[in-house]
Amino acid sequence: MRDGLYDVSPRRILDLTGGTAWFPRARILDGVLKAVLFDVDFTLFRPGPELGPDGYSRLGEQHGLTLDPARYEEARLAAIDEVQHHPELVHDEEIWIAFTEHIMVGMGGDVGCCRECAVDMVREWERHENFHLYEDALPALEAVRRHGLRVGLISNGQRDLAEFAEHHGLDVDVTVGSPAHGRIKPHPSIFETALSELGVDPAEAVMVGDSYEDDIEGARALGIRAILVDREGVHSKEPDRIETLLALPAALGLSAAAGGQ
Ligand SMILES: [Mg+2]
Repeated sequence: MRDGLYDVSPRRILDLTGGTAWFPRARILDGVLKAVLFDVDFTLFRPGPELGPDGYSRLGEQHGLTLDPARYEEARLAAIDEVQHHPELVHDEEIWIAFTEHIMVGMGGDVGCCRECAVDMVREWERHENFHLYEDALPALEAVRRHGLRVGLISNGQRDLAEFAEHHGLDVDVTVGSPAHGRIKPHPSIFETALSELGVDPAEAVMVGDSYEDDIEGARALGIRAILVDREGVHSKEPDRIETLLALPAALGLSAAAGGQ
């Protein structure tokens, strides 16, 4: 049943009640929710054009490579299949470089000639100015703040996440980035560190992210409710999903009145 305050998620409710009863999710969360954890890339921030097909092509030119932007998406999907996470989910820059190199080869770069270009592209992913907030991000963050909730960022990637938050003027309490932490999502320790630094238990937090494997499954494995940000509408069967962050306050059961509106 999905009806405003009586928005019921059986799985979540069973988690919270030990499988003994059904209650409206919003009423439960009003009592226990203390913090919201956000993924960064494709959840709050959109990577800019320098990190997309044309950016690859332009950077390739600087390295004497001809990279076809039209082949980018297919190459990216193939790289996802071919380059696996570190087996123990350790943050490893070499994996990011290998992933990027695979994309460049998929776009027409010669095998064995793309590494330097890939290293430069990985550096581009560390530049804070290459990322842009989605229009719905600040309103969602502000709504969460108005309800007195703490905010954490959890991100895989090469950037310094604390510097990134400061650069973009984000009002957050905690940042846990995989380079400093040492593990990547969905490893439990990256979520546990965020919870610990925020001073909340799993049942008192919600994770919001766009990656089903990294954000959603990772958080749920620890008993953290996870809301999928499904901007493209490709996970229609996922019960706990939103297509825009503007829907987040309602999904969290936050009422406008309680937020002083
Ligand atoms: Mg993401």
